Amino acid sequence: MKKFCENCLKEVNCKYYEKEKEILIDNKKIKYLEKYYICDECNNKFYDDLHDYNVHIVNNELRKLNDIITIDEIKEIMKKYNIGKKPLSIVLGLGEITITRYLDGRNPNKENSDLLKNINNNPLLYEMFLITNKDKITDIAFKKSLGKTKQLELVKEKSKLYDSTLYIIKKMGEITPLAIQKILYFAQCFSNYFLNKNLFEDLAEAWVFGPVYKEIYDSLSYYKYDKINYDELLKDYNYNLNIEEEKYLDEIIKYFGCYSAKILKEMSHLTEPWLEARKGLNENDYSKRKIDLNSINDYVNKICREYNIKTYLDLNKYSESLFKEARNKI
Ligand SMILES: [Zn+2]
Repeated sequence: MKKFCENCLKEVNCKYYEKEKEILIDNKKIKYLEKYYICDECNNKFYDDLHDYNVHIVNNELRKLNDIITIDEIKEIMKKYNIGKKPLSIVLGLGEITITRYLDGRNPNKENSDLLKNINNNPLLYEMFLITNKDKITDIAFKKSLGKTKQLELVKEKSKLYDSTLYIIKKMGEITPLAIQKILYFAQCFSNYFLNKNLFEDLAEAWVFGPVYKEIYDSLSYYKYDKINYDELLKDYNYNLNIEEEKYLDEIIKYFGCYSAKILKEMSHLTEPWLEARKGLNENDYSKRKIDLNSINDYVNKICREYNIKTYLDLNKYSESLFKEARNKI
């Protein structure tokens, strides 16, 4: 191996070493793995291109001791939230090149360090900063970062309900939160019939505009009536669904995903479980009543007899008839 020996002042043959080292800085003992070369000619220790590594690791250890966020942790934040150093600075209300300076080895003050640590541990807090300051960064930077942050919030739950939601978004490409809710509802309805189990056990609430799974509503609330774009949100996500479940969702999407959110809302209003849960309420009455699974399963068994539903293909008869009735209500 050839490197530049600082003693011989020329390129020399040398060997590479790693060794535990302990040094004292500000009266604090810092232990780290030192990397260096030994020159074949003068037998001295030298660093050449390893210099940066050693400085970096000592600085990192020192920051850890002082409870200051490390360079690696800042890099982790940027990766985690898919945001560059400049936009990150701006979003957090710091000077434009503040993060760049920290990455170059300058130590953050305690306040900024705590801020960075907090957003590292808390995607929701980061999202608040991001959305509040969205006009100060480019639209592309904003969307890239928001998508990644949403993904973190969604996947932390790791339930079938979340996985089904993400799968539906993936399959439909672009979809509004309202439409997702209705497709989830129909997916829950028929799952016991086709899969012999409930795809998820979370209960929808009987809201004015149809069945709503509250956790999903909260997670996607930022989008309101905007379409959610799969690519921004979920690239590289691994779904915890088996082939049968994916196939089932594909079929539900085939027969229900072709309708607009508005029509789907009307369609859901025609289903007995939703009507039953809202019994005694006026059309516009606020409600958090749950739509229970027994009521869903009773209804679906009845429907499947009525429409003679045996295979996925037969779902068409039900969804079309529901659509025709719903269309007249708009
Ligand atoms: Zn040498």
